[in-house]
Amino acid sequence: MEGARDRMDQLVSLCKRRGFIYPGSELYGGFANSWDYGPYGVELKRNIRDAWWSRFVHGRADVYGLETPIIMNPKAWEASGHLETFTDPLVDCKKCKHRFRADQLVDAEEEKTLDLSGIRCPNCGGELTDIRQFNLMFKTFVGVTEDASSAAFLRPETAGGMFVAWKNVRDSLHRRLPFGIAQIGKAFRNEITPGNFIFRTREFEQMEIEYFVHPSKASEAFDMWLQEMKSWVADVLHLSSSRVVYKDIPREELAHYSARTVDIEYRYPFGQKELYGLANRTDYDLSRHQDASGEDLRYLDPDTNERFLPYVIEPTWGADRSVLAVLLEHLDIDEAKTAEGEKEPRMVLRLPPRLAPVQAAILPLQKKEPLVAAATELAATLRGAGWSVEYDETGSIGKRYRRQDEIGTPWCITVDPQTADDHTATIRDRDAMSQERVALRDIPSWIADKVGRRD
Ligand code: ATP
Repeated sequence: MEGARDRMDQLVSLCKRRGFIYPGSELYGGFANSWDYGPYGVELKRNIRDAWWSRFVHGRADVYGLETPIIMNPKAWEASGHLETFTDPLVDCKKCKHRFRADQLVDAEEEKTLDLSGIRCPNCGGELTDIRQFNLMFKTFVGVTEDASSAAFLRPETAGGMFVAWKNVRDSLHRRLPFGIAQIGKAFRNEITPGNFIFRTREFEQMEIEYFVHPSKASEAFDMWLQEMKSWVADVLHLSSSRVVYKDIPREELAHYSARTVDIEYRYPFGQKELYGLANRTDYDLSRHQDASGEDLRYLDPDTNERFLPYVIEPTWGADRSVLAVLLEHLDIDEAKTAEGEKEPRMVLRLPPRLAPVQAAILPLQKKEPLVAAATELAATLRGAGWSVEYDETGSIGKRYRRQDEIGTPWCITVDPQTADDHTATIRDRDAMSQERVALRDIPSWIADKVGRRD
C-alpha cells in the first residue's frame, strides 16, 4: 500500500501544482473533502461531460436531454423512498470516537445482515456502538421560516428529477418506446466516510440516463447499455481493461428495486471500488410516483393499445470519479533528456487528446520577430478551429515541454527561424517524443485528423 499512497500523493500534488484541482476554501483553512477544479481540471471535466453528451445524447436518436432543479418538492423524495431509506448504517468507536460505515467493516457477503459481533474498531481496537441508520440527504429550508413545512432537500442523485418529469416528456415527445432521458448535474450526500481525494465527496456531479422500455425488452436494453458503458470506458477514457471490473451483483444482494445490477469498478491505488453503475430498476420508481401523485404515468402503446408502466434501465456515471480514474490511469513517469543531454524523470499525463485540457501548445523558440508573429497567428488559427490552445514564450524550451507534459498536452508546436523561410513548424508528440515538420497551413487538419483517429 506504500506505493499506492505515493501514487495518490503524487497525483494530488501534481493536481495542485499544475492547476487541476485545489483544496476547497483553502484561504480559510480549507473545508474538509471539498475541492476546487482549477483552470485545467475544469477543462478536463468539461471535455468528459461534452464527450458523454455528444455520444449518448447527440449521438443517439433515442436519448433526450433534461435539466431539473437541485431542490425539488420534498414529496418527490418521500415517494421515491429516499426520506425513509436513503441511509447508511453508521457506527462510532466508543474509545477513539472514529466514525465508520458498518457495511464497510464486514465482508461483501455479510453486507445484507450486517452482523458486527466480534468486530472492533479498525483504528484503535475499541468497542463499537450499535448501528444507527443515518440519512444522507442534506436538509435545508425554503423561504423565510425554518419549520417543518418549509423543509426541503438537496437532491442526492439526478435521477429523481427525471422520473418526476417523465409524464411531461412522454406527453411532449409523443414517441414510441424505448427512449431515454439524460441529465448531468450536481448531487449532494452527507457521506459518513468521505475521502480519497475526489473519489467520495459530499457534493459531486453525476451523468445519468433513465431509459424507458417495455418490460419484455428490459433485459435486452440492459445488455445494450452494458456494451455502451464498456465502450465508453475503453474508447473514450482509454482505461486499461486490467483495471476495470464488471461485477454482476448476485440476486440475493440486489437492492429491493433492482432486477439486475452491474457495478463497474476501478482498481484505484486505495482499492477496487465503484466507478459507475448500471441497474434495471423495473417499474419501481414510476409506480411509486404514480401511487403518490395519483397521476396515470403509464405509457399507451399506439400499435397494441396496451397501457403499462415502462421498466427503466439506469446507467449512471460519476463525473468526478471519471476525472479521478482518467488522471490515475494516464499519469506516468518516464525519462527525458535535459538540454545538457542528461536523463531526468519526466512526469507526463498521457491523456486521450480529446480529453486533454490543452490540445496544442504553440512555443516560439525565441521571443522575437518574425517568430512571435507567426506563432501568434498559428495560435489564433487553431483557436478558431475550435481547439484549446496555449501560447507560451517563457523559459527554456525544455521547461516548456515539461510543463505541457504535466498537463497532458499531446502536441507542442515549435516555431523557429526556419518557419519564416519555409512556413513549416515542428510538432513534438508527447508520447512518442518524435518531431515532425508540418506546413503551417496543414496543422489544423493534422490535429483534427490525429484527434479523430486516436479516439
Ligand atoms: P458508493 O457505493 O461508492 O457509495 P453508490 O452505489 O452509492 O456509490 P450510486 O448511488 O450508484 O453510488 O451513484 C451513482 C454514481 O455517482 C456512482 O457510481 C459514482 O460514480 C457517483 N458517486 C456516488 N456517490 C459519490 C460521492 N460521494 N462522491 C463522488 N461520486 C459519487
